[in-house]
Amino acid sequence: MASFFMPTTWNIPIVSEANSTSPWMKNTYRPANLKMSTNRPDEHVLPFVVFNYLKKYEARREANREPDNLNNYGRLRYSAMKRLILTLLLVLTPLPLNAEFRDHFRESTLRIDYLHSGNSEKEEYQRIAFIEEHRWAGSKTLLEDPFDYGYYKIEMVDLQSEELLYARGYATLFREWQRTEDAKSGYRSFYEAVTMPMPRHAVRIDFLSRNHANDWEKKYSVDFIPRRTELIRRKNLRCRRFQIHYSGNPNEKLDIVILPEGYTREEWKKLREDCLRFKEYLLQSAPFNENRDKINIWGVNAWSKESGTDIPSEGIYKDTILNTSFDAFGIERYITTEDFKAVKDLASCAPYDRIIILVNHSQYGGGGIYNHYAMVTSDNEDSDFVLLHEFSHALAGLGDEYYSSGFVEEPFYPLDIEPWEPNLTTLVDFESKWMDMVDDETPIPTPATPEYDTIVGVYEGGGYVDKGVYRPFMDCTMKSRIYDGLCPVCLRAVQDMIDSYME
Ligand SMILES: [Zn+2]
Repeated sequence: MASFFMPTTWNIPIVSEANSTSPWMKNTYRPANLKMSTNRPDEHVLPFVVFNYLKKYEARREANREPDNLNNYGRLRYSAMKRLILTLLLVLTPLPLNAEFRDHFRESTLRIDYLHSGNSEKEEYQRIAFIEEHRWAGSKTLLEDPFDYGYYKIEMVDLQSEELLYARGYATLFREWQRTEDAKSGYRSFYEAVTMPMPRHAVRIDFLSRNHANDWEKKYSVDFIPRRTELIRRKNLRCRRFQIHYSGNPNEKLDIVILPEGYTREEWKKLREDCLRFKEYLLQSAPFNENRDKINIWGVNAWSKESGTDIPSEGIYKDTILNTSFDAFGIERYITTEDFKAVKDLASCAPYDRIIILVNHSQYGGGGIYNHYAMVTSDNEDSDFVLLHEFSHALAGLGDEYYSSGFVEEPFYPLDIEPWEPNLTTLVDFESKWMDMVDDETPIPTPATPEYDTIVGVYEGGGYVDKGVYRPFMDCTMKSRIYDGLCPVCLRAVQDMIDSYME
């Protein structure tokens, strides 16, 4: 049944597992269909077909020369058919809702791969490639970034008019590395990539970074001129994706892709079961449980040569497709990958706005970076909590509300600057945060006493320090190992982000 709900306008070929005998797979996968139309905007396909049909009908009628020779039944049938076709035309012809999008963008996705290099003080960008990927999955109406989260931002500007066409904030591993001891003495490069709708005309893409005062600074610019700039085309990638949860057109939904890491081909059944289990972890927790109809979840079939992931502190190394590893930056439970190219390549098999990497392992661990990826192990007893916690980082830019980590040698958040995370404040600019959710009678800061247990306030301790950074609630999934326990401020931030994909 699920395959009937595939978006008919999506261009990515779906390939079924050739040797599959699982009924689950048979029902969920669509047979190979590698020749799908890409040469005209998909929205026009249906009306075009109907229009052609109408034209043929008219031609046949013309060929009869005497259309009025039709008998009453024939005439009735003809006019009923014509009315039906005209109605269909009216219903199916796209309204110019995305007119502005079509003025500036094509239907596909532009991906820019680059190296982000530097040390604790400096950074620079080196472009690697422009890549054209599948159809754009993001919003076609909300093109500027309404949130202003993240350490980095891309802005696409029309070269002629200087009009801002598209902007999105994000974070990467590079900024985390910049805060380590290693970055004080060494110089390193990280592979990064950003995606945006494919521009129709010549544009400039600016790469911005937050400076020490959290203000944006332009660090790098690159022009993209359609048909002149060298472009690698990967639109018809033959990869294998499957639906885990489908609610509608990817342009109007939050699309999440789950990437398998450390699953061997023999573990295909486990991957399917794990994907379904993680779908339930997500969709049974607030606020996702009330937004099931706004979310699509996709899976990808991709196998690792070995099962599991690297644990360098134990001398364990596995040959896996996304090259993930525990012990990132010396933190045992922190899993990351520096092979972001592999991540982006695999993710491009499905429409996506956010990436979840599911690591086939039972040890407690994960990681989440805003608008970059969330990572979680599959078989720990706290996997449900880790998923919600890390995905909230990746989806809505939520900060950690706990304050013991060993993650950094020095304070992560300068106390004289308001952090950009929606659930943390240094009280420098609290009005921009959840002040509207705090009652007049609630003292600021709020004492951490039982009477305020369920009250939105301003509690000292958060962002890895016990002084100077404040969180909104006594406890929260962003603070403690509690599944389905996001505090009201975090819930609002996640809800706002989900809603932004409905535009
Ligand atoms: Zn919270």
